[in-house]
Amino acid sequence: MKSLIETIEQKFTVNHTDEAIGNDHILTSTETPLRVDAFVLSDDKKKQKISKLFAEIMTVLGLDLTDDSLKGTPHRVAKMYVEELFSGLHPKHKPKITLFDNKYQYNQMLVEKDITFYSNCEHHFVPIIGKAHVAYISSGKVIGLSKLNRIVQYYAKRPQVQERLTNQIANELMNVLQTKDVAVIIDAKHLCVASRGIKDDTSSTVTVFYGGQFNTEKKITELQNYLKL
Ligand SMILES: [Zn+2]
Repeated sequence: MKSLIETIEQKFTVNHTDEAIGNDHILTSTETPLRVDAFVLSDDKKKQKISKLFAEIMTVLGLDLTDDSLKGTPHRVAKMYVEELFSGLHPKHKPKITLFDNKYQYNQMLVEKDITFYSNCEHHFVPIIGKAHVAYISSGKVIGLSKLNRIVQYYAKRPQVQERLTNQIANELMNVLQTKDVAVIIDAKHLCVASRGIKDDTSSTVTVFYGGQFNTEKKITELQNYLKL
């Protein structure tokens, strides 16, 4: 097993394919690619290491870390990465879901729309800002509405690719709700497309997952009517 620093050094040698994958935002796996030793270090240790490494990035860029405005930045970034932006990497933050019986016998689709989320593009580490719409048809069990939101936030708080985020949310919903009748639609703006590269500020990216009963023209039209897409 390579040490963290060795891996980081190895990553400095980026070949042509790596560049193309990043620029074209190609998805390589449905699971977030995690190292087997991902959770060996405690959160505090991670923050210490990231803080040191980020200070080095700033120094290499030529910034003077003795300046009052800059000196706390490495620590702030490290804390923000571990506790907020990338907290969804750690399974301990996975929302605990309690299932309830569908006592109202509601057997139509339930749609939770306009769930605002903030994620980060794993190719550029700049924000992805979007809305997720999720829907399911109960197989006899229901979950609290806020849990749908929490599942979206958990998977958003990782370095992400929008297609993977969509599938990860869908897989988790199918898993906890014990049904394939799940739909996820994500409409998001990628700042790596808006603020750099092609600099397109108006485009957004839509990805969808239609499982089970949702994978029919009738249900898709019905769902889209509710969402008024
Ligand atoms: Zn990107």
